[in-house]
Amino acid sequence: MNVLVINCGSSSLKFQLINSESEKVLAKGLCERIGIDGRLTYQPEGGDKAVSDKAMPTHTEAIQFVIDALTDAETGVVKSLDEIGAVGHRVVHGGEKFASSVVITDEVKKAIEECNDLAPLHNPANLIGINACEKLMPGTPMVAVFDTAFHQTMPEKAYMYGLPYEYYDKYKVRRYGFHGTSHSFVSKRAAELAGKPYDSMKTIVCHLGNGASICAVENGKSVDTSMGLTPLEGLVMGTRSGDIDPAILEFIAKKENLDIAGLMNMLNKKSGVQGLSDGLSSDFRDLEEGANNGNKCAAIALSVFCYRVAKYVGSYVAAMNGVDMIAFTAGIGENSGTVRANVMEYLKYLGIELDAEANGKRGEETLISTPDSKVKVMVIPTNEELAIARETVALV
Ligand code: ADP
Repeated sequence: MNVLVINCGSSSLKFQLINSESEKVLAKGLCERIGIDGRLTYQPEGGDKAVSDKAMPTHTEAIQFVIDALTDAETGVVKSLDEIGAVGHRVVHGGEKFASSVVITDEVKKAIEECNDLAPLHNPANLIGINACEKLMPGTPMVAVFDTAFHQTMPEKAYMYGLPYEYYDKYKVRRYGFHGTSHSFVSKRAAELAGKPYDSMKTIVCHLGNGASICAVENGKSVDTSMGLTPLEGLVMGTRSGDIDPAILEFIAKKENLDIAGLMNMLNKKSGVQGLSDGLSSDFRDLEEGANNGNKCAAIALSVFCYRVAKYVGSYVAAMNGVDMIAFTAGIGENSGTVRANVMEYLKYLGIELDAEANGKRGEETLISTPDSKVKVMVIPTNEELAIARETVALV
């Protein structure tokens, strides 16, 4: 079956058409500037990338262009819509309502809408994408795959904040965690590569991308993760602060005369390694180059980032009372040997030994600990689209 995987944002939409038997990507692309003017990037497997300006006043036009591109007589990869068996939608927040992926019905859409409050930038856009697809592909089954679902197995002690209980009762303020599709995909693959049953393995997955989170996976279940009610908590990220003393907010608000929107903008867009490097960059390639050329703030940003990752790993070893494998994934985790080596320096107490030569590789499944290392450390590239396609096929 061919599955169309859709990741819909407020003004952009990423797509991949995946054949579920071969697990090959038949075509992929991106619609950008939806509601502004509109641009489609489309690339069939083995073919060239084509970029074209197209008027996209709404997501419906954007999805129509995706369908047109996929069924185009020359560069298309299917003859008609009949060859697309299902659509898998990435949905950011499933709240406490969804602990797994679901076939989309009117009731499901209503429940997703009820989670809008928890992800005001993402869930409404996800719903728009679902509605547009339903309009243009009536009768094609659609599945919602939630970023939060994998973490619904966390115990209370991991998801409750030290706040008045009534906020949980009234507003469901708690830790949800994100990147669940990636943490689930990578931890499953970790068990396969280790040759151990998934349900008897302790894995710590470090998903280090522009957004970054760590997850403790014990016996196939997420038992803790670093992101919280929103994706702002936890690690120091590209532009997000991660954990801070909450009292800093009042202090900075008074000094800089910022309101809540100003504070949130600072925490989400101006902080993280971008902020720490004094505005140099949120991209680790720039930071590594800067640090190598003697830029002090770039070096500070890198060291703060790695130290925070190592501290979270240490805390999850405690949470699970042990660990069998640590897996690095996403843009930084898959590509930066420098970050991995730096993090692993802090973990020698676990009996971890780095294989420096293997750690020099990039973007492929690699064991980067030595054969006698007490804990295995691996690079395992994530593939959220494939994970969404697999979930979709399993449900339809
Ligand atoms: P997201 O999906 O959250 O946008 P990605 O997982 O694609 O992020 O990761 C993007 C980040 O990966 C970039 O911002 C950059 O910091 C990092 N990255 C990509 N390639 C490299 C590389 N070769 N070396 C170091 N960092 C890299």
